[in-house]
Amino acid sequence: MEEMEFDSRIVAPEYSANADDMENSLRPKTLQDYIGQEKAKENLEIYIKAALARHESLDHVLLYGPPGLGKTTLSNIIAREMGVNIRVTSGPAIEKQGDLVAILTNLSEGDVLFIDEIHRLPRTVEEVLYPVMEDFSLDIIIGKGPSARSIRLDVPHFTLVGATTRSGQLTAPLRDRFGVLLRLELYTPEELAKIVERSAGILGIEIEHDGALEIASRSRGTPRIANRLLKRVRDICQIQFDGVITEEVARVALERFEIDELGLDDFDRRMLKTIINNYGGGPVGLDTLAAAVGEESITIEDVYEPYLMQIGFLTRTGRGRCVTKAAYEHLGIKPASDNGQITF
Ligand code: ADP
Repeated sequence: MEEMEFDSRIVAPEYSANADDMENSLRPKTLQDYIGQEKAKENLEIYIKAALARHESLDHVLLYGPPGLGKTTLSNIIAREMGVNIRVTSGPAIEKQGDLVAILTNLSEGDVLFIDEIHRLPRTVEEVLYPVMEDFSLDIIIGKGPSARSIRLDVPHFTLVGATTRSGQLTAPLRDRFGVLLRLELYTPEELAKIVERSAGILGIEIEHDGALEIASRSRGTPRIANRLLKRVRDICQIQFDGVITEEVARVALERFEIDELGLDDFDRRMLKTIINNYGGGPVGLDTLAAAVGEESITIEDVYEPYLMQIGFLTRTGRGRCVTKAAYEHLGIKPASDNGQITF
């Protein structure tokens, strides 16, 4: 039987890369199976068709959006739709220029090179990438000192697919070299319910539509979380119920994991309460907040904030983060005020 321990970070989507087997088995393989993200899909379909018709490789694509929204999945789909191979790596894995040169010289014509967390590429490596992206040529320096000389190598016409959590994290010269920029958005509960139903089908789990919707609406707009919650709910369902995930079963199971009806977990609540209790509801600077809750600023910014902002619980102002009236109400906290009146 699978481990059933409560994992306090069950709704944290993480920064991908180390996907488990289940995650891979649930990845849709074609654009048609890829649920939601209609705008990105529509654009991509046009670019792919056009490139195929011209017998050319696809322009370089930058995918950006919070973790767990389907960037890795989409890059695999791009390769498949183009009928080419994909090579997967990540920004932090390419430490030296030589690492990149080795990858590039092993590519075949048309291949997709997927670089996850591309904003974390070392600067020196990034600079090698510029001429490669532009005219598929690689300048390498051989030797050191006065005898050093530069030679130019041609690399195959490949498609670079870069993924990042925010396009703003990329340097301008790198961003400008992508021909296609696609922003992935948080999914609606209905879209996530479809993803949950599809995953349940693959994993052989019986689920009613209302059960799927219940899981979906607590998944913070993120397929990775939806799939993970589905697996957890299945565990509880197997042991405490008769095997079919209904709305009731999903609700009972998710309450056990302390994930509330909006998908907030213990950390979200703690962060909101810290802003309320320690900083009068805000504004509080990101770094101060990060230190107070013991989390890295970048994780708060990329993982926790997008959803809290989307549901209108948090705002970013020039002076810092503020909790909204809706969040006070959700947490059942009365805003403190001098004259007993609530002002926002
Ligand atoms: P990212 O690279 O953005 O962190 P992934 O591509 O690894 O996200 O997706 C995480 C999980 O969510 C995968 O298991 C994948 O199957 C699922 N998923 C993501 N997007 C979709 C989608 N549009 N339709 C169905 N499943 C999806």
